[in-house]
Amino acid sequence: MSNVSEQSALSLRDLRDCQQWLSMNTATLGYRQPIQQTVESVAKAGFGALAPWRQEVETPDVNVSALAKQIRDAGLAVSGYVRTAYFAGENAQVRQAALEDNRKALHIAAELDAACYVAVVGGLSTDKPGIDDSRQAILDGLLALGETAQEVGVPIALEPLHPMYAANRALLNTLAQARDWLHILQAEYPEQFGVVVDAYHVWWDPQLEQGIAELAGNIMGYHVCDWLSPTQDMLLDRGMMGDGVIQLPELRAMVEATGYARFVEVEIFSAEHWWKMPVDEVLTVAIERLLQVC
Ligand code: ZN
Repeated sequence: MSNVSEQSALSLRDLRDCQQWLSMNTATLGYRQPIQQTVESVAKAGFGALAPWRQEVETPDVNVSALAKQIRDAGLAVSGYVRTAYFAGENAQVRQAALEDNRKALHIAAELDAACYVAVVGGLSTDKPGIDDSRQAILDGLLALGETAQEVGVPIALEPLHPMYAANRALLNTLAQARDWLHILQAEYPEQFGVVVDAYHVWWDPQLEQGIAELAGNIMGYHVCDWLSPTQDMLLDRGMMGDGVIQLPELRAMVEATGYARFVEVEIFSAEHWWKMPVDEVLTVAIERLLQVC
């Protein structure tokens, strides 16, 4: 585990001085309690923000405007609203339904005053002949959503995912590809698209530093966890920061070198470990690790 205080050569914000930018992605807590209770737990633990998932918010039990007020009253910001329905699908009808669903979500993101709507873009569209056609279908979907993003004032943050998810979760897989897609999307909607950098998805990239540098001014979020080696599960075995192989201080230094000075968001899917620990303990450890090893 490399300690932040040992990274004296790195230029980094001292996160102890900016706890308002520490955010908890609620997936980290395993969706084990109602979102209203999670808001209280996250605020009490010392975070300044949270990133709720749609499955917790868009249910009959939740009144969105009451939730938005509760979040504000707790002194929390919303670092992101998670996440898009996939812009891929088995046919045009399915993709159109996803688009409508994403429009609805953007309105809720606005009501929550979310800093961005996180886009996990989807994988292959099985009615398309090739991988490039599937990528185009996703770009078409993103472009179609641009107008709603503009109307409600919430930008869409593209999250490149590790290539192991290319087939079924995201055909957006590298920082360089995100840069190229932003170029296309921003030609139509200059203010409505940005990128989220997630340590878990990008740490392995041989062009990491260059890839991040080229996104300067477009980074809307920074997600942290750790890559456990060996990994037991492709989706649900993320590690707590400091327990894996990612050089987190170095990575944050690259992100902050672009001028990024906003949220550092903890996002850990961990079915067999952290989702079995008490929620308050997960929050306490996450804060400690943010301050010690990120
Ligand atoms: Zn993420």
